[in-house]
Amino acid sequence: MNNEASSRVSLLRSSSDAATRVFATILTRSPISRADVARFTGLSQAAVTKAVTPLVAAGLIDDTLDSRRHGLPGRPASPVAVVPDALIAIGIKVNPDELVGVACDLTTRVIASQQPSLSSNEPAAVIDAIVDLVRSLEDELDGLGNRLASIGVSVSGDVDTSTGVVRESTHMGWTDVHLGTELASRLGQLVVVENDVRALTIGEHWFGVGLGTASFAMVTIGRGIGSGLHLNGEVVEGAYGVAGEIGHLPLTSPDKICACGRRGCVEAVAATAAIVATVSAAHGRPLTVEDVVALAHAGDPAATAAFNEAATVIGTAIASLVNLVGPEVVIIGGEAVSNFDLFEERLLAAFAEHAFGTAGRCRMIVRPHTFEDWARGAAATAIRSLVA
Ligand SMILES: [Zn+2]
Repeated sequence: MNNEASSRVSLLRSSSDAATRVFATILTRSPISRADVARFTGLSQAAVTKAVTPLVAAGLIDDTLDSRRHGLPGRPASPVAVVPDALIAIGIKVNPDELVGVACDLTTRVIASQQPSLSSNEPAAVIDAIVDLVRSLEDELDGLGNRLASIGVSVSGDVDTSTGVVRESTHMGWTDVHLGTELASRLGQLVVVENDVRALTIGEHWFGVGLGTASFAMVTIGRGIGSGLHLNGEVVEGAYGVAGEIGHLPLTSPDKICACGRRGCVEAVAATAAIVATVSAAHGRPLTVEDVVALAHAGDPAATAAFNEAATVIGTAIASLVNLVGPEVVIIGGEAVSNFDLFEERLLAAFAEHAFGTAGRCRMIVRPHTFEDWARGAAATAIRSLVA
């Protein structure tokens, strides 16, 4: 990390708890009046001003905004805003067959994006590919390359964020891969490794539809079925690294074997690969995801039955989650959302059937996340690490 980035990063990392809260509030709600910063953080206006001054001096916060232009009422409103490109973060989503990488400013606006395929899932090969991707994204940053502050990498499965170890990732075939330390030493940068659905949840919490809700659950459908929980202002990390694994709730028949090796998991019937396998078996030939979706849209009985079963199990899993933790909103994302019409009716019916009492009032929002959005979630994790 070079001087410009490192002095800003060290200022953020050495900030008091109050200053950290002030910066995080401005970061996610720019432009915002100092009075509102005080209200959101519970600090006095004097304390807010004290926290803002060094951030302005370091070029992280702009306090020269015209309050009228930004429509903020009242005087002296003294609006402040984050300087988006004061620091840059890179986010990388690791998929079994490809990496999706983005370089973002502090508001997770994408500046550069690349999607190289992977020739191997071996940890060493994936680490080499991540290093190459970071270098290649840095090359695209032109004058901003010296502002790279941190890198977030997201992987599905059991990820220990505190040590950067991927303990178990069924999709990657990994056990105890020390991804964080290896990448940090190769790249000479701060590296955060996070579970992919939690990274997406952090992105939605800081920069997406989760902002302004007290609690929400992010549920992803597609290659895997996962969830991230944002409760009482925090993303739930799980004391041992696992939380929100609704894909492995045992809600289906024990004769269905999941890719994780356990029996009866939601993913055993509802993951994309499981749906494709069921329909392929019914037709006696190997089918692709696209084939199966086309068959379902054409009313093929086997494909329709497979999607109906998946949707029912997912809806039941969401009801279980909502009954347990009571979020205000459930955000449904993941690549399978592009065919949400094949899930919607049965999913909502199963949810309504199993949601207990007023838990059924929980709203559902469908968000068609692209893999680039997942990578932005990884970048949001990297940005959050600067102030957490
Ligand atoms: Zn499982």
